[in-house]
Amino acid sequence: MSDPFKITEPICISFSGGRTSAYMLWRVLQSNGGLPPEAIVCFANTGKEDEATLRFVQDCSERWDVEIHWLEFQDADPAFRRVMFETASREGEPFESLIRKRNYLPNPVTRFCTAELKIRTIHKYLKSLGWDHNETMDWVGMRADEQRRAAKIADKSRIPLVTAGITKEDVGAFWRSQPFDLGLPNMNGVTMHGNCDLCFLKGGAQVFSLIAEKPERAVWWAKMEALALALASKPSGAVFRSDRPSYSSMAQFAADQRDMFDPDEEAIACFCGD
Ligand code: SF4
Repeated sequence: MSDPFKITEPICISFSGGRTSAYMLWRVLQSNGGLPPEAIVCFANTGKEDEATLRFVQDCSERWDVEIHWLEFQDADPAFRRVMFETASREGEPFESLIRKRNYLPNPVTRFCTAELKIRTIHKYLKSLGWDHNETMDWVGMRADEQRRAAKIADKSRIPLVTAGITKEDVGAFWRSQPFDLGLPNMNGVTMHGNCDLCFLKGGAQVFSLIAEKPERAVWWAKMEALALALASKPSGAVFRSDRPSYSSMAQFAADQRDMFDPDEEAIACFCGD
């Protein structure tokens, strides 16, 4: 079998900032003796990534000596801007400007955020560099244990980890052997804190536990719901999910749960130690 990580034509490696796509990049570097000139690595920042993700992208770039092009959507011409670790948005600015442009919120059916903030932003950047590029050419970090996602990709050369049979166990073992890692918990191969912090595609219990863990996370999402309520022509455009409580409701519920217990209650001493 030929090496699925060998690059023989212009390829954009879409780096999500997660462990899987970082591992794919590492395999590309190994198979090609570094990043070949016909390849480019792009990371599209939504502004709602955890700081640890931004740090990880930068670490991969520095430690593996590979240029990563940091991009952000902007509602202007050109429709992207180049940033770097130090200047990347951290308050959801690209995402908010997209919501203001559309006047409504993305939802599980109309996921325009991933299309606009990531796929099209990278596409427009590559076109500006003179690439003959279309949005379905990029290599993406998808594993062999993600068959449902992989089935949607017609061109299997775009998912070399699937071709190579790489599973979440392989990716986890790789990162355990490295001198650095993504500073976010790995729960059975799933990075609950990855991507946009309270992405509406995450499970409801997961979103709620992320809010309970750090209530400030809900502030931006609740603010966007309020913004969309003011902007959207239909009430359906003012919620990320119509089948769940709003982010402000979840934040309130998490706060009420905390209030069930007295934060100043002293622990009862015992002999077990700590
Ligand atoms: S992680 Fe979720 S909220 Fe963020 S761009 Fe992707 S689909 Fe949209």
